[in-house]
Amino acid sequence: MPLVTLRQALDAARAGGYGLGAFNVSDVIQAEAVLDAAEETDSPVIIETLAGTSSHGSDERYWSVLQHVISTYPSVPVVLHLDHGPNPETCRRAVDSGFTSVMIDGSLDHDGRPSSFEANVAVTAGVVEFAHAAGVSVEGELGTIGGSKVDGSRAEIVLAEPSQAKEFVERTGVDALAVAIGTSHGAYKFTTPVDGSVLHLDLIREIAEIVPGTHLVMHGSSSLPAELRAQNNAFGATMPESWGVPDEEKVRSITMGVRKINQGMDNHLAFTGAVREFLGTDGLTVDPAPYLDLGRVAMQQMVAARMRLFGQAGRAGDLRGVTAAHAGASA
Ligand SMILES: [Zn+2]
Repeated sequence: MPLVTLRQALDAARAGGYGLGAFNVSDVIQAEAVLDAAEETDSPVIIETLAGTSSHGSDERYWSVLQHVISTYPSVPVVLHLDHGPNPETCRRAVDSGFTSVMIDGSLDHDGRPSSFEANVAVTAGVVEFAHAAGVSVEGELGTIGGSKVDGSRAEIVLAEPSQAKEFVERTGVDALAVAIGTSHGAYKFTTPVDGSVLHLDLIREIAEIVPGTHLVMHGSSSLPAELRAQNNAFGATMPESWGVPDEEKVRSITMGVRKINQGMDNHLAFTGAVREFLGTDGLTVDPAPYLDLGRVAMQQMVAARMRLFGQAGRAGDLRGVTAAHAGASA
């Protein structure tokens, strides 16, 4: 099935009353895990990746291979999304490479500090202009999400301001908006279990009512399952205890208006846990294929479970016949 845009996929999700997981991948084996899970559960899916973080030699080479792998799953509607585009130039490269959605993260300035509202509006509106001209969707960010950023620095949490959401959407024209509600990026999120009082889901509801035409996105929403941390630690990892966003809070966020739920760390924990266990128990194998295969299957199981949780399982048909009118892939 051809690629679809984020706007097309999230419009269908809203009509159907479900959420869509956006699964981070940093190589094509992980992309296969997500696509296998989508095929297994008959789900539409968002595959997202960060620029400059794959194990491939260049973004352009990786992105090209990624699109080829996606094309071998003709029954799966896929949004190919750039996660946390750090500047307009990187977003432009993704658009030109064939992505159907990009995020411009204008929430931080060059020093990693929260940027001004005006600066965020300006950089985001600029990306929307060229992306929309190419038929590509855009996600912006309001407020700042805590935790580790792409460059490894820690960002403080500045909650989204509902009164600014309407103005931000009107002035930028974004299709989707990441709203900071207290979640945190990375494999270390909260030092105590997360209950209904930690995340500001009330903000979601408030902002969803103010910007009904824009889809809301929750970042930093991995669950960090204790059994996966235990598996990693049993075979050499030294990960401290940490809690993520529980399944029930994700489901609740969907009922309050979240449409895209970013899932990164849980994928990596599942993949790496399986690889660590193999390498920790097998002293002879040097061919990477057997353990990469185990990593892929472990990640597929994680992703498939999330697809069922978010309600996207069984909804691939919602996007049948829909295609992105992408003018950006100027071959
Ligand atoms: Zn994020």
